[in-house]
Amino acid sequence: MRLLLVEDDVQLGRATQTGLEQQGHAVDWVRDGLTAQTAIEDGDYAAVLLDLGLPRQDGLEVLRIIRRHGFTNPVLIITSRDEIEDRVLGLDTGADDFIVKPFDLQELGARLRAAARRSTGRAQTLITHDTLQVDPAARSARLAGTLVALTGRELSLLIHLLERRGRVLSRQQLQESLYDWDSDIESNAIEVHVHNLRRKLGKELVRTVHGQGYTIDPPRPLHTVDP
Ligand code: CA
Repeated sequence: MRLLLVEDDVQLGRATQTGLEQQGHAVDWVRDGLTAQTAIEDGDYAAVLLDLGLPRQDGLEVLRIIRRHGFTNPVLIITSRDEIEDRVLGLDTGADDFIVKPFDLQELGARLRAAARRSTGRAQTLITHDTLQVDPAARSARLAGTLVALTGRELSLLIHLLERRGRVLSRQQLQESLYDWDSDIESNAIEVHVHNLRRKLGKELVRTVHGQGYTIDPPRPLHTVDP
């Protein structure tokens, strides 16, 4: 997932960014409320991790503004133990969940996956598509029961497309979902990942929509009855 981390504590911010990147996410990190607001309005983040006590603009105010401007993806607020009122206010202002400092990175990862799952309307933890089964938590994919070796980016791309089955996503949109600001991206990076996914998982899985981008079609019904 492409994530925005908003945290002014440098040590905590760095550790969180590194930890989430190790879990396969692309993480942009900003340290004040105004920059966060601009980044969210310009970017395409699957989720935002938002500290409340921030310089230049308070986290709650950022939350209020981005919700008013139509950002509907999950927002998790980062709070301290003594900020119970803020937590309540945060949830009522449109946050999806909160995590209390100091937090465990594995728990944070699980909460982000749960929030992403809910926001894409999926209750199950596994994503199933025909004989393909993807486990976003274990970061693994099986085809007809057999484990398929995918790179982190291939897996992230696959999950992103599967969660948006039936929608055509442009190369630019896919690139933004996979890479943070600091990444050096080859211009054909997405084509290469798609090529590898087809090679490993079958060439029909990801469909090219000429001039528009790529899509994974919703699975066909298991039984079709001939008229
Ligand atoms: Ca802070």
